Amino acid sequence: MNLQNIKQTVLVTGASSGIGQGIAIAFGQQGANVIINYHSDEEGALHTLNQVEEGGGKGFICQADVGKEEEVARLFEAAVEAYGTVDVVINNAGIQRDSSFSEMTLDQWNKVLSTNLTGHFLCAREAIKIFEKKSAAGPEDKAKGNLIFISSVHDIIPWAGHVNYASSKGGILMLMKSLALEVAPKKIRVNGISPGAIATDINDEVWKDDAKRKELLKLIPYQRIGQPEDVAKVAVWLASPDSDYITGTTIYVDGGMTLYPG
Ligand code: NAD
Repeated sequence: MNLQNIKQTVLVTGASSGIGQGIAIAFGQQGANVIINYHSDEEGALHTLNQVEEGGGKGFICQADVGKEEEVARLFEAAVEAYGTVDVVINNAGIQRDSSFSEMTLDQWNKVLSTNLTGHFLCAREAIKIFEKKSAAGPEDKAKGNLIFISSVHDIIPWAGHVNYASSKGGILMLMKSLALEVAPKKIRVNGISPGAIATDINDEVWKDDAKRKELLKLIPYQRIGQPEDVAKVAVWLASPDSDYITGTTIYVDGGMTLYPG
């Protein structure tokens, strides 16, 4: 697999840590230009950039809250200004605000939906606007853009105590599918990657604790916790011409977690 001959420009949201960082680095290793979006962790974003450059890619960091319309517009403008266009957008930014349902505050609900669903909508809309311009201009037989949503196994597995999170991920699933249907005739591909348990900051209180890790492993038939690279490799493939006939699909990167009933 080699993306260098098509000079991909890739924008990754929430790329200062975890899965987004892993994805940005993996595209850097393919020689891509990588726009590294971050929310507040500038140091983490600079580390990502350093790793992208060490791998042979180029890029820059760009602060923006994906839940804010003006900031998302500024993020995509910066990308187009730097590289002329964007070929791949990875909607990755996401948060959890856990609570039993009756105690869940409106703020906990709104924050999760704003980042995980509205944020993905806003970035998707900017991505599609850019891809549609290429669709009007470029050759018929070439994908005009790849949009990938990082969702979760909880887009299909219910999750008690995390109703806001699971609702946001279920929303992403239908956002991804409906959008894929709408833009497929324009040769724009839209897909999802739904990770299972990946060792990152979002769940470090689970995988760093021996007892909790053992409990978690009972839910994973493949008997290991995933790493950001497990997701990143799939993202690189899903954005490459090797997967050109795939759109509107979710790939579960979960060690078989979705084989068990929720
Ligand atoms: P993480 O906490 O390391 O990464 C989330 C990133 O999103 C962080 O860099 C954070 O700064 C960024 N972010 C949060 N709010 C933002 C905002 N408003 N604007 C821009 N960036 C923002 O955790 P992660 O596990 O790498 O999570 C990445 C994605 O993967 C999330 O969407 C998460 O729901 C999903 N996911 C993770 C797991 C897992 O087990 N780690 C499983 C399934 C899905």
